[in-house]
Amino acid sequence: MIVKVVVDVPSGQTDRSFDYEVPPHLEKAIERGMRVIVPFGPRKVQGFVVGISDVTDLNKLKPIEDVLDVTPVLTEELLALGDWLTTSALCFKITAYQAMLPAALRAKYKKEIRLVHKERMNELQDDLKALFQYQSVIDWEELTKGHQQRIPQIKKAITSSILEVIYVVKDKVTYKKVKIVEPNNEQDLLAELKTIDNRAAKQKQVIEYFLKNRQPISVKELIERISTTRSTIKALVEKGILIEREIEVSRDPYADRDFKRTTPLTLTTNQQKIIQPIFDSIHQKEHKTFLIHGVTGSGKTEVYLQSIAEVLKEGKEAIVLVPEISLTPQMVQRFKERFGSLVAVLHSALSKGEKYDEWRKIQQGSVKVVVGARSAIFAPFKNIGIIIIDEEHEATYKQDENPRYHARDVAIKRASAYQCPLILGSATPSLESYARAKKGVYHLLSMLERVNDVKLPTVEIIDMREELKSGNRSMFSQLLYKKLSERLARGEQSVLFLNRRGYSTFVMCRECGYVAECPHCDISLTYHHTSRSLKCHYCGHEEGMPQRCSSCNSEHIRFFGSGTQKVEEEITKVLPGARVIRMDVDTTRKKGAHEKLLTAFSEGKADILLGTQMIAKGLDFPNITLVGVLAADSMLNLPDFRASERTFQLLTQVSGRAGRHQLPGEVVIQTYTPEHYSIDLVRNHDFIAFFEKEMITRRMQGYPPYYYVTVIQVSHEEITKVIEVTGKIAEYVKRSLSNQAIVLGPVVASIPRIKNRYRYQCMIKYKNEPTLVKTLKEITENYKREMNKGDLQVSIDMNPYVLM
Ligand code: ADP
Ligand code: ZN
Ligand code: ZN
Repeated sequence: MIVKVVVDVPSGQTDRSFDYEVPPHLEKAIERGMRVIVPFGPRKVQGFVVGISDVTDLNKLKPIEDVLDVTPVLTEELLALGDWLTTSALCFKITAYQAMLPAALRAKYKKEIRLVHKERMNELQDDLKALFQYQSVIDWEELTKGHQQRIPQIKKAITSSILEVIYVVKDKVTYKKVKIVEPNNEQDLLAELKTIDNRAAKQKQVIEYFLKNRQPISVKELIERISTTRSTIKALVEKGILIEREIEVSRDPYADRDFKRTTPLTLTTNQQKIIQPIFDSIHQKEHKTFLIHGVTGSGKTEVYLQSIAEVLKEGKEAIVLVPEISLTPQMVQRFKERFGSLVAVLHSALSKGEKYDEWRKIQQGSVKVVVGARSAIFAPFKNIGIIIIDEEHEATYKQDENPRYHARDVAIKRASAYQCPLILGSATPSLESYARAKKGVYHLLSMLERVNDVKLPTVEIIDMREELKSGNRSMFSQLLYKKLSERLARGEQSVLFLNRRGYSTFVMCRECGYVAECPHCDISLTYHHTSRSLKCHYCGHEEGMPQRCSSCNSEHIRFFGSGTQKVEEEITKVLPGARVIRMDVDTTRKKGAHEKLLTAFSEGKADILLGTQMIAKGLDFPNITLVGVLAADSMLNLPDFRASERTFQLLTQVSGRAGRHQLPGEVVIQTYTPEHYSIDLVRNHDFIAFFEKEMITRRMQGYPPYYYVTVIQVSHEEITKVIEVTGKIAEYVKRSLSNQAIVLGPVVASIPRIKNRYRYQCMIKYKNEPTLVKTLKEITENYKREMNKGDLQVSIDMNPYVLM
């Protein structure tokens, strides 16, 4: 028996399968899609079995070392999906397979140094000799941490074959274990109770507990419940009265919460109209992609829930993607309330172990619905009946590192493999999706009114230049200030939104205009109030707040712009009675902090919720009647062809937080460019007008959805090298593609230098280029050697979402 294995060595040369022999005792254990350990050159690596055969072209094969799985971690469908990813996201096979699995299943290697020739030990330097005296294998970390001077010695000894490097696969899978205690059935508890000395009252108390409750209980819980101690329990275990053991438990991040169950609502006429074609697709087992364009509060989520219920009736499974799920606990709650323990949740705030446990529940079929962020699209279900992508326009669905896939594309692939519907939902669909829906590639379903006749909020746009002219230097316009005060007086809640990007504080000299920049990146440093220091958001560089300008030596160096902290200070100044909850990266760093703050706000413990992007989505609180946007144009000036689209989406999204229930909502948007259509059209919540206007711009400029875009980015420490390589690549692409394709570049990237590496790029705009993937693969192949050395980086993004 021979297996074909894709090994965990991501490089061009190894991007294929290798043949291995299967020792007889493993023959029965092995299947396609399982992980194995195989020898590869001098080391042992993890790999995936992609084929089983009884022929090979080689005469001598190495045997596989071990099989790691009992059932395949990659189903046939996922193996095929992985192959598709290698061309659609331009990545290595191994990278594609690994991206589909939880991190806990990815191999980690430990580097160790082994003494090969004990008899030649005297050739080692004293330091090393002493260490290898008693052990022949030493962990690399242990050997070199704090002892950098040993590295050249070790290298020398390796070259002369006295020592060798070995790699050991660390088994990463960790099961969470809990210590439990239970009464020893062979003992009579009542009799024991009598024998215990009266002075050991604590021990008596434990036995009395078990006389009442004979069930096993975790040690931790027992200690809490009857406020006893570890040592009391230990004493009883030693006497043989109690038995202590360890059990494996599944980590359920939502276990300690009660979800009251909800039942399906009676659908409105609108909801009924749009759910029918979805039901048809489910019943007819026919793959279709639906785009629900539904304004905020139109009842999309209820449509999702009832579509899923229909799929569950058929005995099938559902995948639901939401952006940054950890940030919308309300959304998770709605799914848990409807489907209870049938729901697994996958998001970035879970620990590796928690993620693995959720993944296992999906793989074993003990859950039927997964609600998760981007990577949940790879959930290992075997009988998918529906895939739903909420807020489909969100940029987080595109992974911006390898493999650079878009969850929407993967969803289309999987839904067509299972012949089931895919639902994309948004109040502000991406231009790409809406254009496809208009062309009939997707099926457009519209819900342009809110449920129960709730009105969309009224939106007022304030020109901040006028405010300044009339002498108002505050960050609040007169209107916003007035409306905030009214809310305070009436006991209603407000949300204040500040876009973090482009609006963080930077440090500038008032005399000469010098701006403090990162010494390693061409980007200004951000002032952090809590640590009173300057930080680079790209490389992490940190320095103290300067006392003097390093350019003109003036003392008048200050921070500018306004972060959430400054806004908070200002609120306390102008609205002294207001209770504010601030939500930004600083206040939500701790696990669970986000949810706590939101709960406090929903319980009315604050009047104003002040925050960044993270408050734009998914909030649904009845008492919010005012939304204020402090600087609407902060995103508009980013060098990105999607800047207008993002601005419109974000403003619409934020506005949607107001007046979702009985109380009517109002929105105040402050801006320096009120005439821009991406701001002006928010006034009437007019997505369609925005779409039409923006499509004209895209057509003129040759951007999606009229053209596809691929960006090749090159970086190196020497600027001349970067320009030379980017130039050659651009030439090569021009020669290889048809004359319909537009090749731009080399041009400097919008952040010209990060971590001391210069960055240039080449942009390709095209409509139909069948040879593109081949050309791009040739480019990476060409620069493979230089890239492996680590000096040069060439990264290719087909359909990029962040142009930096
Ligand atoms: P969306 O996802 O489009 O923003 P939601 O599904 O959150 O909209 O619905 C908005 C509000 O309307 C929610 O409070 C929801 O409970 C309520 N709702 C939705 N559908 C119905 C219905 N058929 N009957 C009554 N209330 C509904
Ligand atoms: Zn930096
Ligand atoms: Zn200066």
